[in-house]
Amino acid sequence: MADMTRRQFLKVTGVTLAGSSLALIGFSPTPALAEVREFKLARATETRNTCPYCSVACGLLMYSLGDGAKNAQASIFHIEGDPDRPVNRGTLCPKGAGLIDFIHSKSRLTHPEYRAPGSDKFERVSWDDALNRVARLMKDDRDKNFIAKNKDGVTVNRWITVGFLGASATTNETAYLTYKVVRSTGVLAFDNQARL
Ligand code: SF4
Repeated sequence: MADMTRRQFLKVTGVTLAGSSLALIGFSPTPALAEVREFKLARATETRNTCPYCSVACGLLMYSLGDGAKNAQASIFHIEGDPDRPVNRGTLCPKGAGLIDFIHSKSRLTHPEYRAPGSDKFERVSWDDALNRVARLMKDDRDKNFIAKNKDGVTVNRWITVGFLGASATTNETAYLTYKVVRSTGVLAFDNQARL
């Protein structure tokens, strides 16, 4: 205000007066300004998940739109921190906050691929083929390398030629079951990305 010249002051007050006069004769923008914009998450489906990036395991709320039809593919359009997750209480670090770009990245792998021994390229395979192959290889390896007793004759039931990493996007319950199943095979090298 101290730097305002007399001419500038008159200009400002003139514009203000004109605005008030328009409002008095019925051209008030108040109803337009008061119009509530539709909340962008209003019709979205909310899904809870866990950030896949690091072992902090921050909780996420993911919002998707789709018409709910069986053959319609829902698309995620917004992600934010889950305020109910005690780990992060609604916050996300910059990596987690950028997850929407990771999800829609063109280079994101969404199907299993296989590179045959000696080949220089990966080929797409079905989930059934991938899971059957993994199961076959694990069974063969366990049959070959399982250690029932150590050299002193003590039962140890170890399978130490294979390691297992659980995904972060699991609930406590599924992580618990994964742990039980993996340990029951004798695997010692086991970790869960989210350290759940
Ligand atoms: S939001 Fe950040 S801190 Fe949290 S799990 Fe993801 S990468 Fe880790």
